[in-house]
Order: sequence, then C-alpha cells, then structure tokens
Amino acid sequence: MPPAPKPEPARCAGLYVHIPFCSAVCPYCDFAVQVGSAVQRAALVSLLCAETVLWDAWERPFDTLYLGGGTPSLLEPDQLDRVLAAIRGGLPIRSDARIFLEANPEDVTPRRIGEWRSLEVSFLSLGVQSFDDGELRTLGRRHDGRKARGAVEACLEGGFDTVSVDLMFGLPDQDLAVWSRNLDTLAALGPGHVSCYQLTIHEGTTFGRRRASGRLVEMPESGQADFFAHTHERLADSGWEAYEVSNFARAPRHRSRHNLKYWRHVPYLGLGPSAHSFDGARRWWNHRALGDYADCIDRGERAVADTESLDGEALALEALMLGLRTVEGIDLPRYRLRYGVDLPGLNRRLIAALVEDGLVHCDAETLRPTLRGLAVADGLAARFRLA
Ligand code: SF4
Repeated sequence: MPPAPKPEPARCAGLYVHIPFCSAVCPYCDFAVQVGSAVQRAALVSLLCAETVLWDAWERPFDTLYLGGGTPSLLEPDQLDRVLAAIRGGLPIRSDARIFLEANPEDVTPRRIGEWRSLEVSFLSLGVQSFDDGELRTLGRRHDGRKARGAVEACLEGGFDTVSVDLMFGLPDQDLAVWSRNLDTLAALGPGHVSCYQLTIHEGTTFGRRRASGRLVEMPESGQADFFAHTHERLADSGWEAYEVSNFARAPRHRSRHNLKYWRHVPYLGLGPSAHSFDGARRWWNHRALGDYADCIDRGERAVADTESLDGEALALEALMLGLRTVEGIDLPRYRLRYGVDLPGLNRRLIAALVEDGLVHCDAETLRPTLRGLAVADGLAARFRLA
C-alpha cells in the first residue's frame, strides 16, 4: 500500500459558492437546483454570509472564488456583493484572487455587465450550450441562438479578463453539421475560454425518465467519439488549446485557475447547499436539500452532510484519474514525492503498451495522454498498479 500522502506544499486553495436557484430546471440537469423565490434567494444570501463565519478557522489562503450553481446571475448584484463582503471579511482571500461568475445568457444586459465588473468578476462563464434554436429547445433552455450570440458579444465588449462559453454535444439525434455550425459561430465570436461538455443522461432527471420509457435514445458511443474528436480538432484549428478533456483556452492566462485546482488535487472549500470540499486527505459535502442546509446554519453548525477520509491508495488513484484528464498529465517526480508511488517502475509494461497504442506519451518527467488517450481518460487510470 502506498504510504500516507505528503501534504501539498503551499498552493493556494479555491473557494466555491453554490447558488442553487435557476429560473427553470433543465430536463437533463442533475445538479442541486430548484426554482427559488425572491424570499428564498434573500434567505440564501444571509445563510451564505453566516456560513463563512463557521469556517473562519480555515487557514490556507484562497486565490480563486467561484460563484457557481445553479444560476448565480439570478442574484441581484447587491446580493452577490454581500456574499463577497462576508467572504472577504471572514476568510483568507488574497487581494489578487480571481473571481468567477456563472451566468445564463438571458440574464446578460449592459447594466448587469457593468455591475458584475464592479464586483471585480474577471472570469465570466456563460451557459450557452448551443447557438442553434432547435438544440436549445431540445435542452429546454430559456434563451435562443440570437440571445446567446448577443450575450457573448456584449460580455466580450464588457472588459472581463476572460469570457468563457459552455457548449454541449452528444445530444440525442444531434446532427454533426449543426454542431459544426455551433463551432463556426464560436470561432467567429472568439472568447478566451471554451468548455465543451458531452451530455450525460442521469437517472432521476426528465431525460433519464424519457430514456427509461424509450422516448429518448442516447447518442451511441461511436457517435460520441466522433463528436469528441471533431470538437478537439476544430477548436485546435481555431486557436483554442485543450488543457483538459472538456476545456480549451486561447492562452494559458485564460485557463480556469479555479478548476485547475480540482484536477491538480489542490484543497478547496465549498459553501452553500451540496457544495463539496477537500483538504488534501479528506472530502466532505454539505446537505443537498436547502431546508437541511438552512437548519444547520441557523443552529450555528456547519452544514456538512458527510465526510470521507481517503487513504494513500485512494488519493493516488484519484490524482492519477484527474491528472490523466489534463493535457499536462502527471508530473512523475512530484507524484512520487506526494503519493509515494513509482508509477513507471510499477507499470513499465502497461505504459509501453499505452505508448504503442497511441494513448499516452511518457518520458522521465511526465505521463501525458494523447488526444486518443483523453477520449478514454476515465478508463485509463484504472489500469495502473499503484502498489
Ligand atoms: S441552467 Fe444549468 S444549473 Fe440551471 S437547471 Fe439548467 S443545467 Fe441545471
């Protein structure tokens, strides 16, 4: 068994804040979200402010603050400002921390852009999903293609350091030509960052029920692989470099400093219902139901629903899985130092076979997935011996 992992040397942590409200719940969504009222939104703001106080013993400084959800852009700017002020007052946020905000296109107006800029948001992530009206209807989104294009243009003109666009492929019956037009539109707009996620259909969602009753047929794996390869090739041709399975940046400064923490196994703290946290060896998560979360905070208790301690082998496997989802891959000397695992020594034949199959590159310093390896990243890590 690998020895206990060494603590990660002084890398700043990430802070995530979950806003669980959306104007409607999309039929594929598996997140902890609900349609909240104005009263519930106001109450959540107070709860988040109170929750920051309960974590005032957290010591590792934060250099990212991510307002995600849900739809954080549903909150009024003065509500977001209250949450940010509570965080700055109670938690060790660095003055140069990068602030991320998720927004839906229907919430983007010139006034809102100015207000978000006043809040020092530097990375604005737009949940576009598609520029095609038919696909947007399939996905149950509240905006159309025109609104999506206008929102991206307005945010690009608004002066954020980075505007990011989320798109989704692998829809049932999705036409590759329509997807290509989405990528053409994206290329014409030219945001600094793009996330292209493959649709996953979860049980318990509307799409999951439609699939169970035969009314919705998932795209077959071969089709998904074609869309994945096409997406990576087209985005590379248009100037976006992949740095993770689903994430692309026009320059390193546009990469998501916050999400890189998840993939690099750096500690993070989550506030809000359902938010997850990790301190380098232990993971915990808040109550998912808003009522349970609120009851804890109102009693002056942290809203932790459960905790999981990860032993050395579990941490080493997790770090390998996460690292193989990134283009930078695994820094082998650092991995050995932190997790006590000599990956090349234990997996010489496997690595040679993966190199031969064109799935990884490997030298003395790094183990990196190729594009073909990225496409099957989740299965690759499980093939390695760690002890
Ligand atoms: S907008 Fe995003 S978070 Fe909200 S319901 Fe739709 S997919 Fe889920």
